[in-house]
Amino acid sequence: MDNSLSILPVVPIRDGIVFPGTEMILTFGRQRSVSSIEAAQNSGKRVILVMQKNANINDPSPSDLNEIGTVAEIVQMMRNEGEINALVRGIMKVKITSFEAVEPFLVARVEEVPELVEEDDQMHALFNHLTNQLRQAVKLGKSMDFLTFMNVMSGVTPQVLSYQLAGVLDIKPSERQQLLEEVSVKGRLERESGFLSNEVKVLELEKKIATKTQEKFEKNVKEQVLRERIKTIEKELGEDDENKDTKELMEKVKKAGMPDEVKSKAEKEIKRLAQMSQYNPEASYVRTYVDWLLELPWSIETPNNVVIKDAEKVLHEDHYGLAKIKERILEYLAVMKLRARQAQVEGVVDNQSTDTAKKNKAKSSPTILCFVGPPGVGKTSIGKSIARSMGRKFVKMSLGGMRDEAEIRGHRRTYVGAMPGRIIQGVKQAGTKNPVFMLDEIDKVGSDFRGDPSAALLEALDPEQNYAFSDHYLEVAFDLSDVFFITTCNQLDTIPPALRDRLEIIRFAGYTEDEKFYIAKDYLFEKQREVHGVPKGVVTLEDSALREIIRKYTKEAGVRSLEREVSTIFRKIAKIIAEVEPKDVKPIVVAIADLHKYLGPYKYTASLAEIDDEIGMSTGMAWTEAGGDILFIEVALMPGRGTLILTGQLGDVMKESAQAALSYVRSRWKALGLTEKFYQKLDVHVHVPEGAVPKDGPSAGAAMATAIVSAFVKKPVRKMVSMTGEITLRGRVLEIGGVKEKVLAAHRAGITDVILPKNNKKDLEEDIPQKVMSDLKFHFVEHMDQVLKVAIPKLKLK
Ligand code: ADP
Repeated sequence: MDNSLSILPVVPIRDGIVFPGTEMILTFGRQRSVSSIEAAQNSGKRVILVMQKNANINDPSPSDLNEIGTVAEIVQMMRNEGEINALVRGIMKVKITSFEAVEPFLVARVEEVPELVEEDDQMHALFNHLTNQLRQAVKLGKSMDFLTFMNVMSGVTPQVLSYQLAGVLDIKPSERQQLLEEVSVKGRLERESGFLSNEVKVLELEKKIATKTQEKFEKNVKEQVLRERIKTIEKELGEDDENKDTKELMEKVKKAGMPDEVKSKAEKEIKRLAQMSQYNPEASYVRTYVDWLLELPWSIETPNNVVIKDAEKVLHEDHYGLAKIKERILEYLAVMKLRARQAQVEGVVDNQSTDTAKKNKAKSSPTILCFVGPPGVGKTSIGKSIARSMGRKFVKMSLGGMRDEAEIRGHRRTYVGAMPGRIIQGVKQAGTKNPVFMLDEIDKVGSDFRGDPSAALLEALDPEQNYAFSDHYLEVAFDLSDVFFITTCNQLDTIPPALRDRLEIIRFAGYTEDEKFYIAKDYLFEKQREVHGVPKGVVTLEDSALREIIRKYTKEAGVRSLEREVSTIFRKIAKIIAEVEPKDVKPIVVAIADLHKYLGPYKYTASLAEIDDEIGMSTGMAWTEAGGDILFIEVALMPGRGTLILTGQLGDVMKESAQAALSYVRSRWKALGLTEKFYQKLDVHVHVPEGAVPKDGPSAGAAMATAIVSAFVKKPVRKMVSMTGEITLRGRVLEIGGVKEKVLAAHRAGITDVILPKNNKKDLEEDIPQKVMSDLKFHFVEHMDQVLKVAIPKLKLK
């Protein structure tokens, strides 16, 4: 090797290689590279080009460079704002043996790397194969310098071909370096053949995809053109009804009484619609949207002046009893009326005020009525009466099981099949902007990853925000401030606190047997008669039969099942009457004896009176979402080792309260007249029947302790005594909830004595019907000993 070549400036290249025999234009910007190139230009115009091992290194040191590189000649160079563009030609492959200098630029000593050039048939075949592959690749669209391509095709040596190809293959820098380092030409060609065949495959695939896309595109364009032509033809023939449609819609907008913002939105959408081809799927979405805007009652109201006296009349007309509830509602209506009047006065004085929030706040009540109580106690029907008494429309929407915010507030229009939320749907259904809107089951609103419906609900209910309620679908605000919202629920515990704060709670506890009797006699009977089209005066339901229906066919706090049973009787009678001529219809009397015929066998037979007082069984009272109920607690003792077994789907709190009851009994062995280790050879099994219904809460503690004591002392419990109360290990009886519902349930079941914690005495001051108070004997207790005295009279505590 020519010695003048052996020591030369080095120029590192980030990720490229100039192969011997190939030319390339390179740009050098790094200071040391520029110095290298300039030094070379001034001496022999030769440099060593080597690729960096890592392209990201800015200022590579010798160890960051590959050992094998190329000596290249600078054919031409041009300075350009600190950079140098140079056309370089690779001359030979070299190996760096040592670095002679690092500053101001790298200088290295190199030696030529000889190559192995095989000349056999295999090499020949490989050569031909590669040129064919390259031709195919170029045909499929491989980008390559045309001159290089022609040059290669016009006949070169295998070695030249291998270097030329190495420069144009679509491969990674490291793979290119490997090609440079390969000593055997045949080896290099073989590798290149592999790379090239991959490239051909990819190119073929791309071509296929491109063709398909092209075909699809052409089809679409063709359809579009044809459609446009149809349109033009229709227009020529005067069959174009789109214009007419647009005009009609615009007319409707004018009449809809929309706020300005909504109006301009609607007009914009109608114009957009007019420009769309009717075959465009989006057109139908826009159309549905425009229809929604048109159909909402933007300014339709029913007159709104409540006369409290009339409202009172309507409430009494539609409902039996519920005196306190009616009173509360009338008060609420009165307050609403006064606030509206006041807002009007202020509005006159302060007409310039644009503070809508303030006006609305003055106008509507800050709280929302919430009716709480078991099903069938008349919550919905009171709501309907309120609407009737105010002359407003009534709509009801159930929120039960709602988890998605979008159900309240709607889906954005970008969703396929998007719709406004339930609030807006309800308003549309009402057809006026001031309906009475009942939101049912707000205690059953859930929340999950799809957002919190109760937050959206709050916004709808809040007078300070709801004059501009935003529904995602509508996109324009709707004024809900004239809507009279009423909410209902079975329980308050599960309502989010923020929502609960806004509610004005009105409790419906449930009815006594007497109340049910009069409700059925005076209201349900007449209602069902009309529903079934039975003429007046044909059917008589005897009072005794009605009472029997209440006792033996229903067991509920409300009157829903009762109404259903009455309806069943009328259905059967309607069938009988329908078969005879009107003039031949004979009066029908329904007595107790006929009930089997109409209603089938009794649904609830075993009344309390028919059960004997038993050892190990006590009567408790439970609060459920469906009102109150009585329940029996059974305890059995079996040979064993003092374990406590619990069955009947009891929740954790109830299980713990059973444990506490047993511990209390064990600690009181002396007073109860038991031996010290009385429980050691016995297992205690506590069961609460009706096992399919999950039960929980601490309030059955007293009843469980009573049943356990009774089982051990072998003395019966008075079943007509029902009790409720949480107990401590020392036997203290603590306050519990749901007293009103429990007491009503006990009364319904025919209980005579009720044991309540002393601290619950105040709850009886709520409006419990006088009859209930006088029928029942109440015992207020602080300790289990007092409970036992009433419930197990035969037990004498020591
Ligand atoms: P809720 O909404 O509480 O579940 P509903 O309002 O649906 O109960 O009441 C069930 C049925 O009982 C309705 O037909 C209703 O008119 C009737 N009803 C309930 N309470 C009374 C009542 N105090 N007077 C007359 N009918 C009543």
